[in-house]
Amino acid sequence: MDAISYERAGDIGSALRAAQQPGTMFIGGGTNLLDLMKGGVERPLRLVDITHLRGLDTIGTLPDGGLRIGALVRNSDAANHALVRAQYPLLSQALLSGASPQLRNMATVGGNLMQRTRCGYFYDTAFTQCNKRQSGSGCAALEGHNRTHAILGTSSQCIAVNPSDMSVALAALDAVVRVSGPRGDRIIPIGEFHRLPADRPDVDTTLQPGELITAVDLPPPLFADHAHYLKVRDRASYAFALVSVAAALQMDGHTVQSVRIALGGVAHKPWRASVAEQMLAGQPLTETTLHDAAAAALTDARPQRDNRFKVVLAQRSIIRAVNQAAGRTGGVA
Ligand code: SF4
Repeated sequence: MDAISYERAGDIGSALRAAQQPGTMFIGGGTNLLDLMKGGVERPLRLVDITHLRGLDTIGTLPDGGLRIGALVRNSDAANHALVRAQYPLLSQALLSGASPQLRNMATVGGNLMQRTRCGYFYDTAFTQCNKRQSGSGCAALEGHNRTHAILGTSSQCIAVNPSDMSVALAALDAVVRVSGPRGDRIIPIGEFHRLPADRPDVDTTLQPGELITAVDLPPPLFADHAHYLKVRDRASYAFALVSVAAALQMDGHTVQSVRIALGGVAHKPWRASVAEQMLAGQPLTETTLHDAAAAALTDARPQRDNRFKVVLAQRSIIRAVNQAAGRTGGVA
């Protein structure tokens, strides 16, 4: 067992100072980090407990009508907050589809953004080939079991998927991640927060060393009336998405005024289906336009041996989620 030092930070400044020592990691709810430490995947020398930082556990409205969710707000509290439920039902649905009630009671919004892939080869240190765990060691999933892996944005270095449901909804809502670090505060659009693997699959996000997530900002609510989070998984609860779709619409009668579609379970980051969005915007929502848009969203898919089913599953899930968001029943192709 490794020796670990532990420190409880009382404010953001002391947390940031503590993080400047090599080998330091922040710990919040710990629902992912402790698993990784038990398995020997993460081996920090020092843990800085951020759960007592003042002011990061609140939800409040912004001057522009948006919403700020503190990084330490528990997933269950975010999902059940009156303003989130009423104005951002997509986010509430996504949060409630994740993990279990016990885990949602512990996990924080910041931690959810930071959770790592559930690729089995990443978690099992008996497998020596994992570029995400050990840079340059190879990728066991390429020739191994890859049923749950990525079909979009992959690289020859890594085909892992991001496991977060919350982040898929945040991608559709164009959220912004607020961070503090040694060089000050900055904001990161959610689309730039998670990375594709390319040749650095060991790096999941664009956070810089020593930076701390302080909050997530949501733009003013536009999609409260037409939003749906669809999660397709192997069992009804406590399972990660094979494919998920966050669909949000503004409708004018049967015509789509604007639309956001983000996919989970298919890439190393939440995947915005931008081409599909462009094809649907301004168009009557017909089965033809929706089928064409869903097909276009998967044009660039490069499935692996075991996960070819995800291409059609993702197309059908887009159709179903958009139909549900629009208030139409049915919708499976
Ligand atoms: Fe590791 Fe990524 Fe390959 Fe999984 S897919 S074994 S996380 S490199």
